[in-house]
Amino acid sequence: MQFKDIYGYDDLKKGLIQSVIENRVSHAQLFFGAEGSAKLALALAYAQFVSCQRREADDSCGVCPSCRKYSQLMHPDLHFIYPVATTKEVDKKPKSTDFIAAWRDLILKTHAIFSIQDWYNAAGITENKQAIINTEDAGEVVRTLSYKSYESEYKVLIMYLVEKMNVQSANKLLKVLEEPPSKTLFILLTEDSDQVLGTIISRTQLVKIPRYSDQELKNILINQHNVSSDQADELVVQCEGNIAQALALIDGVGQRKAVGANFIEWLRECYVSGVQRKVGFYPKHVQRASDFAKSGRENQKFFLTVGLNLIRSVMQQHVGNPNLVKLTGDEFVFSEKFKVFVHPANAIAFYDLFQEAIYHLERNANANLLFLDLTFKVEVLLGQQKA
Ligand SMILES: [Zn+2]
Repeated sequence: MQFKDIYGYDDLKKGLIQSVIENRVSHAQLFFGAEGSAKLALALAYAQFVSCQRREADDSCGVCPSCRKYSQLMHPDLHFIYPVATTKEVDKKPKSTDFIAAWRDLILKTHAIFSIQDWYNAAGITENKQAIINTEDAGEVVRTLSYKSYESEYKVLIMYLVEKMNVQSANKLLKVLEEPPSKTLFILLTEDSDQVLGTIISRTQLVKIPRYSDQELKNILINQHNVSSDQADELVVQCEGNIAQALALIDGVGQRKAVGANFIEWLRECYVSGVQRKVGFYPKHVQRASDFAKSGRENQKFFLTVGLNLIRSVMQQHVGNPNLVKLTGDEFVFSEKFKVFVHPANAIAFYDLFQEAIYHLERNANANLLFLDLTFKVEVLLGQQKA
């Protein structure tokens, strides 16, 4: 990560760079920024700058051996520690190193902008309450830092969310902060400085990292994530500068649209097979039912719920309530066409059909049979004439 990869924060970047150039890097720093600020990204860019072998005036070079290893998060003198818990794969004594592949992936995929929930999801941690920075983990890092650095002048430890340490871990950390191994840079990150022990705060230099302003967030969404100006305005209002939340919402919209497209395709198949009576659709239906069954309970419910909402939107078209129809693109075209087939005479039946399917799924019905059954019932309903 280079400073130039991070939008905005000009003054903050200048301050960090200046401290390195003037040789007054404080060995322990506490980066305090709410969820959805770029604190981890800035910590990574800063650490890369400190370690760069061909530093430029305003950024790391990006090409020296150190920078190349940093860009992959694979530098032997770069250490991470973050909250972990037991998972299916790591069923006892979880440590940060057990999760390093998921950690690197998440950072590279999101450019280091994510929420703690995103981290739990990526790590497969379902019991969020138990996720902490535990004593063994803290102990291992302290040991590692007591060795000499491998390649760089500095060893760097980035700790993601200091407030997730238990008391024993915090005491271990305090000890090293009091007698720090030479040439070691601790970058501690927190989202809630009120929860960080006062003794830790007093031994670190505080760097406050604000969230983006509404205008900055809007620019990022439009320029880096291809969001339309209108959609960006909406997201800005909802997310109050929390870019992690804005990106999660975009992801959600993208996912919903993909599922909606899949639903529409299925409905078209039902129409062609059930109403136009074209033959040869049975294998297709069977395949779809099998795919549906494999997709997992939550995705199955999501598919049916998205479908239910689409049908509801078509109904709104029908009763001439265009203000309630919030469809765009393909979904709008779909609703225009399908309003002939979803009408007052069968709308309730459609509604009940999907509600019932969701009800049975929640009670562990066989998803394969349920979907096939749904397919045939939808075929019949689509053929039903207007009253
Ligand atoms: Zn470099």
